[in-house]
Amino acid sequence: MSSIENKTDVILIGAGIMSATLGTILKELAPNWEIKVFEKLANAGEESSNEWNNAGTGHAALCELNYTVEKPDGSIDISKAIQINEQFQGSMQFWSYLVNSKLINNPQDFIMQLPHMSMVQGEQNVTFLKKRFEALSNNPLFQGMEFSEDPEKLMEWIPLIMQGRPANEAIAATKIDSGTDVNFGALTRMMFDHLKSKNVDIQYKHSVDNFKRTKDGLWELKVRNVHSGNIERHTAKFIFIGGGGGSVHLLQKTGIPEGKRIGGFPVSGIFMVCNNPEVVAQHHAKVYGKARVGAPPMSVPHLDTRYIDNKKSLLFGPFAGFSPKFLKSGSMFDLVTSVKPDNVVTMLAAGAKNMPLTKYLIEQVMLSKEQRMEELCEFIPNAKIEDWDLVVAGQRVQVIKDTSAGKGTLQFGTEVISAADGSIAALLGASPGASTAVHVMLEVINKCFPQHIKEWEPKIKEMIPSYGVSLMENSVLLREIHSSTADTLGLGHKEQLFSVAQ
Ligand SMILES: Cc1cc2nc3c(=O)[nH]c(=O)nc-3n(C[C@H](O)[C@H](O)[C@H](O)COP(=O)(O)OP(=O)(O)OC[C@H]3O[C@@H](n4cnc5c(N)ncnc54)[C@H](O)[C@@H]3O)c2cc1C
Repeated sequence: MSSIENKTDVILIGAGIMSATLGTILKELAPNWEIKVFEKLANAGEESSNEWNNAGTGHAALCELNYTVEKPDGSIDISKAIQINEQFQGSMQFWSYLVNSKLINNPQDFIMQLPHMSMVQGEQNVTFLKKRFEALSNNPLFQGMEFSEDPEKLMEWIPLIMQGRPANEAIAATKIDSGTDVNFGALTRMMFDHLKSKNVDIQYKHSVDNFKRTKDGLWELKVRNVHSGNIERHTAKFIFIGGGGGSVHLLQKTGIPEGKRIGGFPVSGIFMVCNNPEVVAQHHAKVYGKARVGAPPMSVPHLDTRYIDNKKSLLFGPFAGFSPKFLKSGSMFDLVTSVKPDNVVTMLAAGAKNMPLTKYLIEQVMLSKEQRMEELCEFIPNAKIEDWDLVVAGQRVQVIKDTSAGKGTLQFGTEVISAADGSIAALLGASPGASTAVHVMLEVINKCFPQHIKEWEPKIKEMIPSYGVSLMENSVLLREIHSSTADTLGLGHKEQLFSVAQ
């Protein structure tokens, strides 16, 4: 066991999409800063950011019904949908900047245009969908959205879903062609390749085990070489905790007051993957349904065409479930060891409040493949069990904290927790997730580097022209951005490049 001393400007913990995005932005803003990355697994993008561990939806609120809730007066609240769409436009602009500046190549390796659709059954849901369509379709951010309850039109849009349905079933869908399928794993790896070429020191199989504040205000990290067991000490002026589900434990170890009374609630995921190329070929969209009563918002069922490893495939899910692990590669003790004296009351309150959710998630874990097929058959009435396999997805750790809504409130969003002096920040939560990584990492930069923002603003605007501007209120800029990002990212012209999975 040896001990090595090292000093640097920035340390990023974890090699997922969040650290990749922050590292890449910082390298553009402050090229001379020294950056180090520690990742406990063998490669980048192996946890939630991996293409098989998430749904690859470029979340722009085009199809996710949980972002447009019905208010008690029956009208539809679209404020969250607008917010998420604007955030996604930021990601699209940054990815275009990376391609235009040749910092990454081949956008077709990580992004593909794909219609985003919402699909509902039953009179009440059809009425809701129609109202949602009316509320969104006149908004410039959602231009091009179509609605139909005509079975013939729906057969044209989603033949696989329509075949085998009773003729009198109340069913409706919306469709918008400008949606995307994003391979976040590939994008993460591309950004880390770029960072490596810029001399960023990326240490795989290195786990950050503890933190200490030094007398001169730096952070000292205890880093363990997972392979040899050797311990190294690394210090930095700024630390980003991008450990995905692992961030809760890491934040607790920093001891910063902002990290107190916070806990995590893990939700696991399972996808069904179609192994029959003839079935795969019959579908071309991401089709989101409505979450079941009692189900958490991240378990909304959807049937997605995916483009992974240059192959078209078809995934259904995710089925949410309960596992005490905070990372897919984590430990069965993660949940228990996250309970500390400062958050025990918060966690107990959350436990008491969320018994029905926990029960639901445990029941979901126990489902047999046959029972999962029943859910799939609501989407594809003619689905055959032999055409589908189960794949374990990533873990999503939802934030638990005390809010104005009460002690131990379960949050379904993303949260940046940073120290008052801006020397350390952690990202908690996983929704909307990778799609809004650019917006969330700009939030980290704003919170932690306020003294540099004025100097950095021109470069930020070069990377993200809509930075600080409401696109909804600036339709000329929105049009320009839509057209230039589609052009740079080659959206809409790539279907022919992919073959159907064999
Ligand atoms: C089932 C599912 C479906 C999803 N679908 C979508 C979707 O359709 N669209 C979307 O935008 N988002 C989606 N998400 C969310 C998205 O995947 C995540 O928000 C995003 O990948 C998180 O990125 P990250 O970098 O924070 O974490 P991760 O990708 O999990 O990376 C964290 C990294 O930190 C490492 N690490 C942890 N602890 C330590 C330590 N102590 N030392 C060193 N390294 C450490 C881990 O090994 C890991 O590599 C989904 C997530 C799940 C689970």
